[in-house]
Amino acid sequence: MILNFNSFRVLKVLTMDNLELKDKAKKIFTLLHRDHPNPKTELIYKNEMELSIAVALSAQTTDKKVNEITQRLFKKYTGWEDFAKASIQELQQDIRGVNFHMGKAQRLIKMAQKVISDFGGNLPREMHELITLPGFARKSSNVVMQELWGKAEGIVVDTHVTRVSNRLGLTTQQDAIKIEKELMAIFPKESWRVLSGSMVLHGRYVCKAIKPNCLGCSLNKICPSAFKI
Ligand code: SF4
Repeated sequence: MILNFNSFRVLKVLTMDNLELKDKAKKIFTLLHRDHPNPKTELIYKNEMELSIAVALSAQTTDKKVNEITQRLFKKYTGWEDFAKASIQELQQDIRGVNFHMGKAQRLIKMAQKVISDFGGNLPREMHELITLPGFARKSSNVVMQELWGKAEGIVVDTHVTRVSNRLGLTTQQDAIKIEKELMAIFPKESWRVLSGSMVLHGRYVCKAIKPNCLGCSLNKICPSAFKI
């Protein structure tokens, strides 16, 4: 590739922008980490199976609602076998209350069957394996890996992280995969686990979709959206 003067100028501007963004990302991480030193999921679970089922149920549904459902659910279904052999109609009734419960029931049964047939009844530990489970994509896999084993292969991008990262000017994307890629480029890998959890909590309790609490937000001095929503 031949680089002319203009190419160097564009490259310089991009590098400057990226440096500024990384500097801003560093400040954001410091403040979020201070607010949430050890963020954990608010889903209630006792083992790997329970967390993965709860995470699969939580798409488009609040953690509070999922916890209400799983409190009863995990008394009836105590292992992967119970889900794998479940009647679809019965499971649909048992998870009624979470959004899209019809499709989720189907996927839970298929997920349990795959865990048993392909992974010997143990939840797989690698991203490339987790994303093969029905009902699991990168977001769910990131949550499970970070929560259970403290491993961060990526950044959890849910509805809260999408909203907060856009408001903070870290991305202009709305697609979760693209946002994750952009955030991974500006935050160092060692920050991904805490960043994921703290940004989710920040979005849930401070930077809410409607009426964000900019006055009480520790990021309001560096946020371009502060007091504008
Ligand atoms: S200042 Fe307001 S818009 Fe910006 S991150 Fe905080 S709560 Fe959200």
